[in-house]
Amino acid sequence: HLMPSNGYAALTSDWDSFWTRNRNMRIDDCFSVPTSLVPGRTVHMLERYTNDYCRSFEFTGKLKEVVNLSSYNYLGFAQSTGPCADAVEEVLHSHGLSCGGTRLESGSLDLHTKTEELVAEFMGKESALLVSMGYATNSTTIAGLASKGSLIISDELNHNSLVFGARLSGAFIRVFKHNDVEDLEAVLRDAISQGQPRTHRPWKNILLIVEGLYSMEGTLVKLPEIIELRKKYKFILYVDEAHSVGAIGPRGRGVCDYYGVDPNDVDILMGTFTKSFGAAGGYICSSKAVIDHLRMYNHSSVYGESISPVVLQQIYTSMWSIMGRDGTGAGQERLSRLAWNARYLGTHLRKMGFIIYGDRDSPVIPLLLFHPAKIPAFSRECRKRGLAVVVVGFPATSIVASRARFCVSASHTKDDLDFVIRVVSEVGDVLSLKMSSRTALEN
Ligand code: PMP
Repeated sequence: HLMPSNGYAALTSDWDSFWTRNRNMRIDDCFSVPTSLVPGRTVHMLERYTNDYCRSFEFTGKLKEVVNLSSYNYLGFAQSTGPCADAVEEVLHSHGLSCGGTRLESGSLDLHTKTEELVAEFMGKESALLVSMGYATNSTTIAGLASKGSLIISDELNHNSLVFGARLSGAFIRVFKHNDVEDLEAVLRDAISQGQPRTHRPWKNILLIVEGLYSMEGTLVKLPEIIELRKKYKFILYVDEAHSVGAIGPRGRGVCDYYGVDPNDVDILMGTFTKSFGAAGGYICSSKAVIDHLRMYNHSSVYGESISPVVLQQIYTSMWSIMGRDGTGAGQERLSRLAWNARYLGTHLRKMGFIIYGDRDSPVIPLLLFHPAKIPAFSRECRKRGLAVVVVGFPATSIVASRARFCVSASHTKDDLDFVIRVVSEVGDVLSLKMSSRTALEN
């Protein structure tokens, strides 16, 4: 009964200790493992196990500094110091924390309009809508775009917020193999020729939903090929850029920037501010007509509190910096540093014989652990040596594809990464994770 009911409960780096030593523990204790990780280069992990079951832990109450490879902090803007902190503090004093209303009531500030304009410009789209939570951005936007009689086609590895939104919409859902354009075309052909089940009438509309960068796989969407299919089959293309915006592309503007394609060839560009921007919330970018429609039909925007002014300022300042508008070149430097760091770490791990999934430009680097028993051992051995990592297993992955997932940040120094490489190599030897050098070269 200790097996968590969703993948994310398995992500805690202390899960093993609970698994092996606390067999009588209640399930909610499993969720309360308090590994407090502050995003950034190094973190203090405060182990404050308070309940009775855990008193025997030898590390109770200890503070330990570790290199953090587990947080989405791609550009390092989540740091508590830096270019955003002063601006954010100023807004906290001038505006306070809360808007006290939804966008359609009293919760619209100039700062909302200003930030929406900047986000739309950044993404190369006509208009943008901001929502106070990334998860809700997906789950409530999809229901505003598709409904009964619509067809949604979804990558099999799409994030839970996308799956939830698709189900909420009441549309008919078809799934295609992860990032497999041939399978996608087969599904499209089949679904279009059949029409709606029972009536065989054509679909009201067809929404294709993919992610820019898949964070469990490190794979980049095959956008140019999908855009070709869009021309042929005339569907609405929805791309979730939670992990690619700010992290991918020479100007950090996500997958369109990476492939050099026109953002107007994608109908809906969605993204979150929780990763590269060190903030919170999400956005939808599209034509003015679509965004005006969503202002009335995105339920989390209509019925939920609007984004806090403090958060807006964090988004504005970090995006301004990425766009180079602050005149310092620091944003571009962060982008180059992230790209270099991702390549550096990925290349070294591959050369050492680890099986690494995903694209070589991905700042998310999944390292295969294969056997579920190695999940707890890997995180424990890393942490012992001063490295905080996220480990993932069933049901978030298949049983045999258990993995550690490293998130590289622009705020990691080369010394940090050399330390990471040393630690992971050592742990890889302890757990026999490395392939022969021949297999490694093929990897
Ligand atoms: N989409 C994707 C692809 C994600 O990975 C996540 C969260 N990691 C979300 C949406 C939800 O975003 P948030 O955490 O900002 O609510």
